Formats: sequence, structure tokens, C-alpha cells
Amino acid sequence: MQQIDILTIFPELFGPFLETAFVGLARKQGAVAVTAHNLRDWAEDRHRSVDDSPYGGGPGMVMTPEPLVPAIEALAGAKGPSRATRVVCLTPQGQPLTQQKLADMAVGPPLLLVCGRYEGLDQRILDLAVDEEISIGDYVLSGGEVPAMVLIEGVVRLLPGVLGNPESIRTESFQGGAVLEGPQYTRPPIYRGLSVPNVLRSGDHAAIEDWRRQNAQARTRERRPDLLEKADSGTPVDQRE
Ligand code: SAH
Repeated sequence: MQQIDILTIFPELFGPFLETAFVGLARKQGAVAVTAHNLRDWAEDRHRSVDDSPYGGGPGMVMTPEPLVPAIEALAGAKGPSRATRVVCLTPQGQPLTQQKLADMAVGPPLLLVCGRYEGLDQRILDLAVDEEISIGDYVLSGGEVPAMVLIEGVVRLLPGVLGNPESIRTESFQGGAVLEGPQYTRPPIYRGLSVPNVLRSGDHAAIEDWRRQNAQARTRERRPDLLEKADSGTPVDQRE
């Protein structure tokens, strides 16, 4: 069973997310245990504060090492070789999240996801207590909670036995090669004058496979030529930008 803990000032954001669809199912099946912890439980002052104004001036607030470092250490142990948990901070300054990273995390050690708020974290928290910084993309959100959900949803669907049909993981975009999945169709066969391609209804499995491969490549060439260039350059998936 994979274990994922979350450290946040808004644990209530995770309620329905953890109950619904694959994530809810995976938890019921015992494939994953996810717990959202309230950072304020580690705050020691009357206001349960977690932030303070930045040294050097500037707008906004910065999350303080107290209570974040003790909270991380309580949930994951002290940073170092004997720590069994991978402590990941969600931040726009981290390494980009990729399908390869999700696959590693699905089989790796327990995860503690640290969600920032305000202007981010005091650097000493990252230096003293965090193992890895991950970004979900080149844009800025107001908090790490939605990025943590992105990561959890991506990991959970890769856990053994959770996705009903493992074949759908094998063929989808970014899996086992940097190629996007091609167009897909379901009933009805004709909708507002648009027909499903005949080959998909032919029952000829070799022809269908061929059509899918060609369309996946054409779509990737058209929309994301950068993926093909990276694949051609032979760079391992997890080292691509
Ligand atoms: N001032 C910071 C941004 C703070 S955004 C900077 O310039 O880097 C507040 C919090 O939202 C961050 O601490 C982080 O936890 C989260 N966050 C925002 N955008 C994110 C992204 N693209 N990926 C992961 N986390 C993000």
C-alpha cells in the first residue's frame, strides 16, 4: 500500500477529492492511504500563525520554519539517509512533474507533500527538511493544494490494481515514449454528420492498431513536435525538460 501524507493549512480542500472516483476507490481498496494534516496543529502561539513578513521587505507573507520544520519532522523524520519518507514540496521553482516521476513515485517510498501558501516558504525549510521540489507547470497558483491533488491523482492511477484496465495506461499519452494518444470515438457512429472512421468499425485489429499508431504520430508531430525531438535525441524520459 502506498502512503501519502499532506501538510497544508487547508486540509478541508481534500475532502471530496479523497472520496471520489479513482482516488476514493483506491483508498477503499487499500491501495493507498492518504491523510491531510493541518499545519496549524504544530503552531505554538495563540493565533496558530504559520507566516510572517519577509526580511528585506516586499509584499505578502512567507511561511516560517516554525511550525513547518517540526511538522515535517514529526510526519517524516529528520532529513538524512535514515529518513524513509520522500518529502516533496510543491513549488513553481521545482523540477517539472512528468509521467516518469509519477511512475517512480507510485512504486517508491511513502510521500509527504508540503503545500505552500502566501509568497512561499522560508529557504531554510527547504534546506533543512525537504528532499525534492516539484512544479506542475510554468504558472503561479495561490497554494500547493491543487498541485498536490494533481500529483496524487497521477500517482494513484498507476498503483497496481487500481485502474480497471492496465492496457489503457500502456497506450495513453506520455507512456513508454513521448507520443500523444490519437483521436478516440464512441457511439453513435454518425453524430451531426461526422462519422467514426471506418477502420475503427472494421474489426480488423491489425489495421486498427496501424491506424492508431499513425494518428498518434501525426497528432504528436502537429501539436508537440518538441516531444518527438526529445525522443529522437535519446535522452531518458526522466531527464527531459
Ligand atoms: N512567490 C513564489 C510563488 C508562491 S505561490 C514564487 O515566486 O516562486 C504560493 C504557493 O503555491 C507556493 O508555495 C506553492 O506551494 C504553490 N504553487 C504555486 N504555483 C505552483 C506550481 N506551478 N507548481 C507547484 N506549486 C505551486
